[in-house]
Amino acid sequence: MVLTNKNTRNVFKSKPISFLSNDVPDHSLSLVPTTHHNAPIISSYNDRIRPLLDAVDRLRHLKIMQEGIQLPTIVVVGDQSSGKSSVLESLAGISLPRGQGICTRLPLIMRLQNHSNPDPELLLEYDGRVVPTDESNVADAIVMATDEIAGQGKGISNHPVTLIVKKNGVPDLTMVDLPGITRVPIHGQPDDIYEQISKIIKEFITPEESIILNVLSASVDFTTCESIRMSQQVDKSGQRTLAVVTKADKAPEGLLEKVTSDDVNIGLGYVCVRNRIGDESYEEARDEEATLFQTHPLLSRISESMVGIPVLAQKLVQIQATLIVKCLPDIVRKINDKLSSNVEDLNKLPRNMASIAEAMTAFMQILGSAKESLKKILLRGEFDEYPDEKDMHCTARLAEMLNQYSVEIQSKCLENDAKNRFLLDEISVLEEAKAIGLPNFLPRTAFLTLLSKKVKDISFTPFEFVDKTYSYIENVVVSILMKHSENYPQLLSSTRRAAQNLMAMKKKQSENWVVDVVEMEKMTDYTCNPEYVSLWNKLMAQQNAVMESVNDQSKPGEMNIDGYGDVEVWHLRGRGVAIVQEAFDLKMRLTAYWKIVLRRLVDCMALHLLFSVQNLVNKEMEMQIINEIIGPEGNGLERMLEESPAIAEKRKRLKGSIELLKESKDVVAKIIDNIATINLG
Ligand code: GDP
Ligand code: MG
Repeated sequence: MVLTNKNTRNVFKSKPISFLSNDVPDHSLSLVPTTHHNAPIISSYNDRIRPLLDAVDRLRHLKIMQEGIQLPTIVVVGDQSSGKSSVLESLAGISLPRGQGICTRLPLIMRLQNHSNPDPELLLEYDGRVVPTDESNVADAIVMATDEIAGQGKGISNHPVTLIVKKNGVPDLTMVDLPGITRVPIHGQPDDIYEQISKIIKEFITPEESIILNVLSASVDFTTCESIRMSQQVDKSGQRTLAVVTKADKAPEGLLEKVTSDDVNIGLGYVCVRNRIGDESYEEARDEEATLFQTHPLLSRISESMVGIPVLAQKLVQIQATLIVKCLPDIVRKINDKLSSNVEDLNKLPRNMASIAEAMTAFMQILGSAKESLKKILLRGEFDEYPDEKDMHCTARLAEMLNQYSVEIQSKCLENDAKNRFLLDEISVLEEAKAIGLPNFLPRTAFLTLLSKKVKDISFTPFEFVDKTYSYIENVVVSILMKHSENYPQLLSSTRRAAQNLMAMKKKQSENWVVDVVEMEKMTDYTCNPEYVSLWNKLMAQQNAVMESVNDQSKPGEMNIDGYGDVEVWHLRGRGVAIVQEAFDLKMRLTAYWKIVLRRLVDCMALHLLFSVQNLVNKEMEMQIINEIIGPEGNGLERMLEESPAIAEKRKRLKGSIELLKESKDVVAKIIDNIATINLG
């Protein structure tokens, strides 16, 4: 049921649509309900908020969102055919594409601007183009732009089109109309249309800076609305959701209860509207709406502050202003942060080089800084460049490895010294080393045979250590070098190759060194360390006690030798006293000397390692890289002159983004000072 009043309608036809007009002489003609009508306040409020909205729109136009900076935005969502486009056109006073199936196939940013000129001005912006249009052609122009961007079919896109409507009497509002949510693809739509659309919607409504304008048809159960479900996912408490209930004329029954019971958590409240139907003019539609809510027996019971497009317009303007004022300081901060980090990144990029000399300079710089890093990390143990990467705290890691090596090598030799085999090996070696000669000379061959067997048993450990240490050092060196030459992708592979070759070479050298060290220990026995003699003396002092136990069956067959450990002697009883005595002497010499050998293996390894690393860092690495890149085979410097496409691209992107951010900063700077003085009352 639609009630009309011919007179009022005529009056409106000749007047501009006016929701927030600042000079409405006759209050009865204003579309703003009397309860809300307070023209001077609204207008001055509007005048002050306008520059803020302009600034935000400029930022949007500059595409600052591409920089990851969100702008305060009113996003219109709703299920398909809930009346989204109709609400927008009611607010704007223009015709948007409407009809069956999906018409809104991409985000439509609508900027409504009140202007004093009675002639409306409409502009469509997309793809960097600005196409002027007018009220009778805007629908077609949008369809054309949509086809161009999202294709002629039923496909959708997240590429926005901006429609600017400058018209006398429209509220200053910027909103985004999104494709309606549809569960079932209609003929010609891609199968994943639901996923595609919900992805776009999510992208727009997720940021905290977005106000969700949820368009609900009065004829449906709100709790089953897909758009409600979606907005609740990102705004649980509903504090940034406003509901517009359309088609109040079609389903007035129970509407009052629906909007007062608020089953779906709408924090910013409900506004019920009736949009344009058929080929009504906007003025007629507003007139019909006003009459409907004033006279309909059910609808007139709904509070005036909750009905009609003018109320909606006013609420939106207010919400938008609050939102902008709230968000702007944060936006300024984000612009500044982003700007300084981009400038820093740009400065870090290598300069474009024009000559071999320049390339040489850059190359020497890389070399110098890489060398300094290597020194810090591998020699001096300064890890300020990698505070949190434990693997790069090399001096500590190498010390740990050396400790572990020392523990391992000590534990190896304990394994084969079983208590119940005490002196057996020594006896059998002595028996084989027998020769014609005086009895009380310990044969040297016996000692060397046992020593070399012992050394052989542990000789694998130093090789393992060398292997492990070099692969660790190689990783560290390669990652430091890669970091320093990351801006010159042309250098990366040769630098890496240089490092790997050098490390392989150095590892080979160290292995050869280990072979020598092990052989030396096997074949010769010497130490000037007095500890050897003193320990041997201490052990030998217990010889008598041991011999007594061996000889005297009544003594316990087990004992402890101070400085050696627990031993058993049962198995020695009955053997010749002389040979047992000799074997004991041999064993004690070996024990005293073995301590020296092990310590020497660890000490020498430590010195060797430090020496190798120092050589590597101080001279060899540099030489190797220079040879690889500018040596007879290398053409690294020539290659440095060609800037890699990736760097060129990065430079271009950073420059563009810096320009954009600077411009944005200017835009915001102009109005930010005023914020303090804006009183939102
Ligand atoms: P959208 O898909 O959400 O953009 O919905 P549209 O704005 O295209 O509207 C879908 C249909 O509902 C159109 O035929 C509109 O004329 C109709 N419609 C929208 N709002 C109202 C309203 O308040 N009353 C009536 N009777 N019809 C409406
Ligand atoms: Mg639509």
